[in-house]
Amino acid sequence: TAASFAEIQRMRKSLPAYKVRSELLQIIRDHQVVIIIGETGSGKTTQLAQFLKEDGYCNDGHLIGCTQPRRVAAMSVATRVALEVGVEIGDEVGYSIRFEDKTSWRTKIKFMTDGILLREFVTSKMLEKYNCIIMDEAHERSLSTDILFGIFKNLLSSRKDLKLIVTSATMNANRFSQFFGGAPMFTIPGRTHPVQIVFSRQPVSDYVESTILQASKLHLSNPIESGDILIFMTGQEDIEATCEGLKERLIDINSKKKNRNSADSELSDIEILPIYSALPADVQNKVFEPTPNKRKVVVATNIAETSLTIDGIKFVIDCGYVKLKVYNPQIGLDSLQIVPISMASANQRSGRAGRTGPGVAYRLFTEDSYFDDMYVQTIPEIQRTNLSNTILLLRHLGVRDLMAFPLIDPPPEQSIISSLFDLWTVGALDNFGALTKLGIQMASFPLQPSLSKMLLIASQSGCSEEMLTIVSMLSVPQVFYRPREREEESDQARTRFFVPESDHLTLLNVYAQWKANSYSAGWCKRNFLQYKSLQRAKSIRVQLSALMQKKSISIVSSGTDWDVIRKCICSGSADQAARLSGLNKYVQLRNGLELRVHPASALFGAGDLPSYVVYHEMLLTSNEYINVVTAVDPLWLMNYGVVYYNASRRVDEEEDVGL
Ligand code: ADP
Ligand code: MG
Repeated sequence: TAASFAEIQRMRKSLPAYKVRSELLQIIRDHQVVIIIGETGSGKTTQLAQFLKEDGYCNDGHLIGCTQPRRVAAMSVATRVALEVGVEIGDEVGYSIRFEDKTSWRTKIKFMTDGILLREFVTSKMLEKYNCIIMDEAHERSLSTDILFGIFKNLLSSRKDLKLIVTSATMNANRFSQFFGGAPMFTIPGRTHPVQIVFSRQPVSDYVESTILQASKLHLSNPIESGDILIFMTGQEDIEATCEGLKERLIDINSKKKNRNSADSELSDIEILPIYSALPADVQNKVFEPTPNKRKVVVATNIAETSLTIDGIKFVIDCGYVKLKVYNPQIGLDSLQIVPISMASANQRSGRAGRTGPGVAYRLFTEDSYFDDMYVQTIPEIQRTNLSNTILLLRHLGVRDLMAFPLIDPPPEQSIISSLFDLWTVGALDNFGALTKLGIQMASFPLQPSLSKMLLIASQSGCSEEMLTIVSMLSVPQVFYRPREREEESDQARTRFFVPESDHLTLLNVYAQWKANSYSAGWCKRNFLQYKSLQRAKSIRVQLSALMQKKSISIVSSGTDWDVIRKCICSGSADQAARLSGLNKYVQLRNGLELRVHPASALFGAGDLPSYVVYHEMLLTSNEYINVVTAVDPLWLMNYGVVYYNASRRVDEEEDVGL
């Protein structure tokens, strides 16, 4: 089904970027920093790195690096470019994302997440390997991209031979240029077609339901040749609900039309395809394949807004929401929240309908809410996220004062202070704000501070073998599988793994039993475990243990003594500790927030709840739930710093808990 090589080359040559190839290369030769602006789909991501390579930038053994704010995008575009160049992925074209490196010594064009490039500065302060960096999708303003901007601003004067190319959809480009002292902006000319915007007349109460109605109406009242449908949803859950619901509805209509009782379970004229980050790469790539004689309906997250371009879209349905990471300094945690999109986002999404011809965009929100409720631009991540990890990394790179570091937009002072406080409580910073020995070691792990601390303390306490497993298991998506039609059966299977005092130890137990069963896929299936997640945990474990060996951090086993493991879990989570208050309610020690143990926890229903617990995550739904919970001794908590909270942190009841 894949297009032939000749066909692909023809497609390349028809892209707007290709038409200005020599002008692009000239302006890059003439300047150290260039900002490139172009409509989505003009060929920035797939062509620029190839142009640079063809112009000889790799000849002296240097690499061309291209950053993406999203893992899915890094994988997907690398795969596409490898196909265009005519090589296997990992050969001349490769990618690197956290815990997954598909590059080799032959690699010349390396796609990666911006977070990976940021980490590379730890081992190579001058970034000697590269002579070109393309910072793609810079308009997304991810935290790592913004931090990289600051680092590059300092680096460029000592690396005169390094080219920096910043690409952006139309928004923000001026500010990037100003940030780099008036760097030239080059706009790739491109034609877009008019898109008719249709607002909802009434506010929509259930956007999944409304989407299903709108999509089936569009499908049934427009001939298939008129074009495909792209739907924007917030995440995996509502994407799956939309796909299922749409299919059911169309089957229902079909069977009524044919005047039959038995419903056709197949739809012959439509292909409904989801795309979100947890999907395996091969399934993700399906959205690009043509569907002859069928209408393609792609149901996507924000990834399709600018990162990936799907050709042939005529209709867009925009639910008007996005899932964003939002930091709540009072709770001290990031959480994913569904929030209204910005006006800029809404316009990008609509624009996807006008790439190949005139299109229509259906917005499931009213015109009033567009003007009254939406921000003009999405708030950059740096202003709405926990900065602990970033501050730790920057300290390690020698940046002491984030307020004096060059940034396009500064973070709120409150989140700097609260992140510094977090780092101090885990012991990464001393009383003078300098990195401790522990902090330096923590900074070299690609993990959140609480997890890297657990690992390091475990090494000192003689249980790093076990902690490696726990940390790896915490770094993958859900391992327990709970199919809707077999909930009871799967819940029962899960309890067989329970270690009553700890979900962390339950995860350790799952992994140990999987290993004892020769890492079998069939065993996972029988026990309602996600084989893919466990496999991934295994691969992460290999990489983390290699990193520990490289740093001469000892890997030792505590055998059957699991209390020592709980102590180490406590050492990293002292920040996330709670005390029992009432029958089954907890209060967070740091700020008195009321919490409940999630029903999926091993502690739930195991008799009396323990007086003190630490937890890995908090879910903000109708209740505040804590998940992945471990019982601890209050004495351990005092040893690991929680006592300081009561002494030094006053809880102000008036403080705003909102966004
Ligand atoms: P930009 O970065 O300017 O938004 P891209 O370089 O991503 O543009 O896309 C250029 C063209 O390549 C688009 O027409 C897009 O549809 C096509 N394309 C990108 N990835 C794939 C893929 N995996 N399969 C097929 N076509 C693709
Ligand atoms: Mg792109």
